[in-house]
Amino acid sequence: MADCLFCKIIAGEIPGKFVHQDDELIAIEDINPQAPLHALIIPRKHIATLNDLKPEDDALVGSMFRRAAALAKQHGYEHRGYRAVFNTNREAGQSVFHIHLHLLAGRGLAWPPG
Ligand code: 5GP
Ligand code: ZN
Repeated sequence: MADCLFCKIIAGEIPGKFVHQDDELIAIEDINPQAPLHALIIPRKHIATLNDLKPEDDALVGSMFRRAAALAKQHGYEHRGYRAVFNTNREAGQSVFHIHLHLLAGRGLAWPPG
């Protein structure tokens, strides 16, 4: 996707602080962190929103959540707690249309979210 921010970060055309990379996904620090740990887990495959997921993406989404859990554990938040969330479309505040799982931890996270 030529004008997709996350495709450009994955391609190395725009810098990112990588905290994980493998064949199917990357994880980077969010540029505007909303918690002491705020990482974005992003598939290499361009998928615009959760609405565009296909059955063949099931394993990929599972890998994204398992990576979020691994990163939370790596940072010592396994038991304290963390949140892993996808924003989808306007009312949820999605601003980059290449799916990404937000991992937030390190402070009390209000519920319901704003
Ligand atoms: P969304 O609003 O789509 O759920 O999340 C997009 C996230 O990407 C936001 O939390 C925003 O701070 C982050 N972001 C936007 N531009 C960049 C960037 O250039 N680099 C990084 N690392 N994060 C970005
Ligand atoms: Zn993309």
